[in-house]
Amino acid sequence: MAGEILKQFHQRSIAHPDDFWREQAQRIHWERPFDQVLDYSRPPFARWFVGGTTNLCYNAIDRHLAQRAEQKALVFVSTETGIEHQYSYRDLYVEVNRLAAVLKQQGVGKGDRVIIYMPMIPEAFFAMLACVRIGAIHSVVFGGFAAHSLATRIDDAQPALLVTADAGMRGGRSIPYKPLVDEACRLASHPPRHVLLVNRGLDPGLTWVPGRDLDYAQSMQAVGTPEVPVEWVESTHPAYILYTSGTTGKPKGVQRDTGGYAVALTASMEYIYCGKPGEAMFTTSDIGWVVGHSYIVYAPLLAGMTTIMYEGLPTRPDGGIWWQLVERYQVTTVFSSPTAIRVLKKQDPKYLTQYDLSSLRYLFLAGEPLDEPTARWISEALKVPVVDNYWQTETGWPILSAMPGVEPTACKFGSPSFPVYGYNVQLLDENTGQPVPAQQKGVLGIVPPLPPGCLSTVWGDDARFVSTYFSLLKERPVYSSFDWGIRDEEGYYFILGRTDDVINVAGHRLGTREIEEAVSSHANVAEVAVVGIEDKLKGQVPIAFVVPKNAGLLTDAAATQAFEKQVLEAVDSHLGAIARPARVYVVSLLPKTRSGKLLRRSIQAVAEGRDPGDLTTLDDASALEQIRQAIQGTL
Ligand code: ATP
Ligand code: MG
Repeated sequence: MAGEILKQFHQRSIAHPDDFWREQAQRIHWERPFDQVLDYSRPPFARWFVGGTTNLCYNAIDRHLAQRAEQKALVFVSTETGIEHQYSYRDLYVEVNRLAAVLKQQGVGKGDRVIIYMPMIPEAFFAMLACVRIGAIHSVVFGGFAAHSLATRIDDAQPALLVTADAGMRGGRSIPYKPLVDEACRLASHPPRHVLLVNRGLDPGLTWVPGRDLDYAQSMQAVGTPEVPVEWVESTHPAYILYTSGTTGKPKGVQRDTGGYAVALTASMEYIYCGKPGEAMFTTSDIGWVVGHSYIVYAPLLAGMTTIMYEGLPTRPDGGIWWQLVERYQVTTVFSSPTAIRVLKKQDPKYLTQYDLSSLRYLFLAGEPLDEPTARWISEALKVPVVDNYWQTETGWPILSAMPGVEPTACKFGSPSFPVYGYNVQLLDENTGQPVPAQQKGVLGIVPPLPPGCLSTVWGDDARFVSTYFSLLKERPVYSSFDWGIRDEEGYYFILGRTDDVINVAGHRLGTREIEEAVSSHANVAEVAVVGIEDKLKGQVPIAFVVPKNAGLLTDAAATQAFEKQVLEAVDSHLGAIARPARVYVVSLLPKTRSGKLLRRSIQAVAEGRDPGDLTTLDDASALEQIRQAIQGTL
């Protein structure tokens, strides 16, 4: 059962949002106090802290200078280049001011967009903060995207300037960025006037476009060490645009405000992440994703913490690197993803126990369903609570989570626990529009207004914001998460998969997640993807693609067959024969987005012999090829 304190805390946030959020807003600096906590005169658009002016960069950096100028703000570690560098709050202030001056010199001002297409280097971090300092709107595009994806985002955001680097590094190999930027600028109808380039000296073939391209180091040197006054912006002024991962189709430009976001993140550091000023947080995501925006860059700084930024693989030089950093920097809070933990699971477990992890209090995981065996494995190895967070790019911070900073509650593996304060979550029956009782599946909806920090609209497209997110029910506007969930008698929520992943087997609706969870209970399963494919008799049947933990055990066809049979038995015993996959295929890799999410829609299309559609978000094309080969002639 959700603790009593937690329950009351949540209820108050829903019943009295004005009081609740007025109190939370005291956590940040307002240059001009707001007149109104919430303006909800134009549903479903919510405007938080109307009339107030503030600045995200001021709250993240300047505000701390009086008390913690010499404290570490950013620790940068690259196992790719061997560079390790620490920046105090004062250092960060200096770098961000210089870069803000460079941007201003290039004519970038309030409301202008700046695209940041960069590897995980400190300059990317500075660029985000420099933008918000001067009221410019950043849009970080994950560095793994190719020219075409970048061009689409350029045309949607129409940036005045683009910040990039000559190259990124992955597994010791240099990956040029600049040719992709040049190509994207050619493809785009609205290319930026200027490209500011950090030359890391990683690409010997680097070329410059005269007049357009500017050298970062030279530009910084030319401005010296100026102080750039912060631009006080309205609370509702957009801080950034961030495109969703594109797992289900065309990415949407999520627009985030300034004041609501700052308040929501600062509060979350106390209530959810339990991070205190002076402590260190290590978020292993990439700044190109929402978790990186919120919990590598903004939230730790807003809370006066030290944030660790890591360029490199989790397995290089070995599978212990993250935990080595935890020891070295006395990290209290690690935030990662189930996908990353499943990668570590294939490594030698000794890497998890070889360092002194006594500083660590929590491991938070988000982005994908966290299966029970993985949660149990990592929690037992690290000996700290593992907290599953459910959220979306759209919300910017968790929708479902345990909130140990409000009240510690027992963890149930496989469940991201309870609705977070501010979110009026309902599981809804799609047909009746009514909330479903416990133990019944429903679409996870949020009754608006969405709390502070959530998207204010889709960039440049208010109509799309309304039609995409608020058309689940005809009778009333409810935000649809497009995820399918269930709540148990004790109030714990479980995410069962995306609404378009629900499989209809002879009239029974099954979430892909439920079946995957059952398959994962087999000891030799590292990862699994379940999709529904067309079946003349039953409508749809599930099929499963399994990555074994130890492929060495599947020595011959007989061993593989026995394994497949055991997997089917596991599903039978967990869910019953109705959920049993028609086939189990063993593969070595699953198709994922560049943010590590399973691309079920592409697997399903390939399995049904259809065109897999837009593959720009696909990380490794060979994974989809394996699916194609695995099913060949079997269906
Ligand atoms: P697009 O919306 O463009 O298709 P996307 O939904 O993959 O892309 P994100 O916003 O990065 O983009 O991902 C949010 C989704 O990730 C959620 O809607 C949910 O499906 C999944 N997710 C996130 N965290 C969890 C979690 N803890 N448990 C289960 N699923 C999760
Ligand atoms: Mg989504």
